[in-house]
Amino acid sequence: NIALNLEKIRKDFPVLNREVNGYPLVYLDNAATSQTPKQVMDAIVDYYSNYNANIHRGVHSLSQEATDKYEAARKTIQQHFNAEKLHEIIFTAGTTHGINLVANGFASILKKGDEILVSAMEHHSNIVPWQILCEKTGAVLKVIPMNQEGELVYEEFEALLSEKTKMVFVNHVSNALGTINPIKKIIDKAHEYNAAVLIDGAQAAPHIKADVQALDADFYVVSAHKMCGPTGVGILYGKEEWLNKMPPYQGGGEMIATVSFDKTTYADLPHKFEAGTPNICGGIAFGAALDYMNAIGFEPIARYEEELLNYATLKLQEIEGMQFYGTSREKTAVISFNIEGLHPYDIGTLVDKMGIAVRTGHHCAQPIMDFYKIPGTVRASFSFYNTKEEIDRFIEALKKAKMMLS
Ligand code: PMP
Repeated sequence: NIALNLEKIRKDFPVLNREVNGYPLVYLDNAATSQTPKQVMDAIVDYYSNYNANIHRGVHSLSQEATDKYEAARKTIQQHFNAEKLHEIIFTAGTTHGINLVANGFASILKKGDEILVSAMEHHSNIVPWQILCEKTGAVLKVIPMNQEGELVYEEFEALLSEKTKMVFVNHVSNALGTINPIKKIIDKAHEYNAAVLIDGAQAAPHIKADVQALDADFYVVSAHKMCGPTGVGILYGKEEWLNKMPPYQGGGEMIATVSFDKTTYADLPHKFEAGTPNICGGIAFGAALDYMNAIGFEPIARYEEELLNYATLKLQEIEGMQFYGTSREKTAVISFNIEGLHPYDIGTLVDKMGIAVRTGHHCAQPIMDFYKIPGTVRASFSFYNTKEEIDRFIEALKKAKMMLS
């Protein structure tokens, strides 16, 4: 049933061999950031060892090599997400940057009284930029509610839509709960009202290969560091027609066609949104990360991670006082929970003493915690390089922590 060659895969991730507090590391904080395979590290070392140069400007060989590799990475990313056009892929510093770029662009498109809808289960980075946008424009932010299972209430979403709705923001997968949202259905419905839809794909991208054309998403944003790539790089996919309507986010080099003190004209897409020297090495390494994951295959990855999710859920259920948050049947390998009477922070600290990395707190999704009336949760998030043995160790550590704390 396990189609992945775990022994081989785990050898690709040197960090998985280290010890933490005298125990072999069990890394279950993949939703915060994923670990890096040596194939990606090799791409980084290769760049700095052999062709470190600024791109798009130089005529010399190193610059051309770096430009070719950087643009080849853009192509890899385009193919991965099935964007129709290469220039619809904008390199960013990550999901947060991509969302802010769009929020800035819509400041000159939205008018007072326009409405924008955001889901109740968003990461702060898909809430705050829209609040700032509303302050600038006088647009009104409305919230698509969720239910106890941690699912969006589709009927309430439908009821919120009107001719005033100009934009809708939903994550593909919730980082705090793991819920996979029915984004195709949401996009199609929003389009009946001509509203643009931005999908925060940060948590989906490591598990699900999104096809932006099939989804008909207007914008799709991701961070490389959640999918085996480095930090500080990501992409914004935007439909050409929207990218053309939006003004540049930042001014500077690379993003202009001509500059004079009378009038400056902007470069064509994608450069219009890529001011300054980009994270060249990061972009190339992002391409290498996608190559790495695609070589394993997103289908087998998803199947294996589901197996881990089911295994861990069953084992956790045996612990008395266990309370899960986010119990949708449509979810990725993320388990958010509390144990009755114990503070999540104490649990996280104690299991770390046994070498186990989990996340505790509000996971940058405070509205979700308010909804459940809790200060936070313990979140274990699994990746394709995790094993059932690691889950066993996690459960054992949890039981010990529970005993020590009660
Ligand atoms: N959205 C979601 C759903 C996320 O999980 C994250 C990262 N935790 C972000 C946005 C922000 O990503 P970044 O910090 O890489 O910009």
